[in-house]
Amino acid sequence: MENTGSHLWMEIDTQALQHNLLTLQKEAGRSNSEVMGVVKADAYGHGIEVVKLLFDWGLKRVGVATVEEGCNLRKIGFRGEILVLGGFFSEEIDSILDNDLVPVVSCFEEGRSLAEKVGHRGETVKFHLKIDTGMGRGGFLERDLPADWWRKVIQSPFLSLAGIMTHFSCAESDREYTESQFGQFLTFLSHLPQDGTLPPFLRHCSNSAAFLLFPEMRLDLSRLGIALFGVSPTGDARLVVDCSLRPVMAIKTRIKNIKTLPANFRVGYGSTFVTSRETKVAVVSLGYAQGLFRSLSNRLEVLVRGKRVPALGTISMDQMVIDVSGIEGVKRGEVVTVLGREGEEEIRVEELAHRCGTIPHEILCSFRRVTKKICR
Ligand SMILES: *Cc1c(COP(=O)(O)O)cnc(C)c1O
Repeated sequence: MENTGSHLWMEIDTQALQHNLLTLQKEAGRSNSEVMGVVKADAYGHGIEVVKLLFDWGLKRVGVATVEEGCNLRKIGFRGEILVLGGFFSEEIDSILDNDLVPVVSCFEEGRSLAEKVGHRGETVKFHLKIDTGMGRGGFLERDLPADWWRKVIQSPFLSLAGIMTHFSCAESDREYTESQFGQFLTFLSHLPQDGTLPPFLRHCSNSAAFLLFPEMRLDLSRLGIALFGVSPTGDARLVVDCSLRPVMAIKTRIKNIKTLPANFRVGYGSTFVTSRETKVAVVSLGYAQGLFRSLSNRLEVLVRGKRVPALGTISMDQMVIDVSGIEGVKRGEVVTVLGREGEEEIRVEELAHRCGTIPHEILCSFRRVTKKICR
């Protein structure tokens, strides 16, 4: 029944993933911080099966964007803590409780509906509170919170404050602004009673970029997404290579046919490429429907037998054309690496992101529907 995915597949390097987890946990440990794996969007396109592996290797907490993502992790048997980062509607609160998820409360409506629904069920729910220190997205501005909000929380038999968080908007690019966000967060925390009235809670603000660039901001939890998958949050691969983090995702396809075109022959929709000489071309099964951005047209290189070769012309919906003139004896069926390593050569996510003017996160997510092969 299952298509074997022999045209196009994603290889998940589980050894690299385990290595990254242990490396990041060790590094976090130096700052007395704990790694929370951020695994929204199908674990950044790698597929939620990897989250169970991470749990087996010792990851205790993960963050997801939605209640639905949290429930899906429970369905596959993930037993660690699941923090729902991206908000929820009141009709999702039953699922939050039934699946033992920990919601982040980012606005008054969420807090109110949570207390009400949980009270109705006669239960207590752990939650984290989100403070907006300059992202302008979810979270409370300090000035909007009533001075005694925390007293109400302590007194509520239904709500149990387990964490307070904020999120940086440009840790990868703006030191000054990140430091000001961090300062505001610390100020907010310092305004809370320090006399033990509040239960112990976890403070957290760092994503991968902040974790790697500002070790002093790690606090109790470090929310790591892209670094866990061995990809740089800044687009500069050195940042993760220097910490020995390794890419987890590879994208491979195969040559469907080969032919030689004469000089001055046009290739692809819109004739955006014209051969300048006799050119041996190969067609491979990957296009924008499978997640390869069309904006990479005429800007992409792939690996064939460990050599870099250019892709030619406009990327189609399910196919593209590559130049294999330099590859002696290349055959139909041979593997082409679009992302990943072949011997000494490597195409990295950061390279693709740079070539089409986006961030590495978007490249990873774009391949999320490609058939996975878990390699141990
Ligand atoms: C996605 C996300 C992260 C992780 O970001 P990376 O850059 O992938 O490390 C951390 N915190 C929150 C709130 C997020 O939404």
